[in-house]
Amino acid sequence: MPRSSYFYQTCPTCGRSLQVRVEYLGREVICRHCRGRLVASDADEVDASACDSEILERANHLLSTAEVQVRNPG
Ligand SMILES: [Zn+2]
Repeated sequence: MPRSSYFYQTCPTCGRSLQVRVEYLGREVICRHCRGRLVASDADEVDASACDSEILERANHLLSTAEVQVRNPG
């Protein structure tokens, strides 16, 4: 029996958890629950880290802005 790896993805149409073969990554698959189409992607974690870095970037921007204001005595 060939070994297959799976990952879990949430269906954007019905919101249920889908078990998707890794070999379908980047390909269009059909949800077994609602038969909606979605592109197989395990990018959920990547999205989360992207959000984190975006928040950090904004925080750094706010900090640098605040710093400039503090350094100008007006
Ligand atoms: Zn679905």
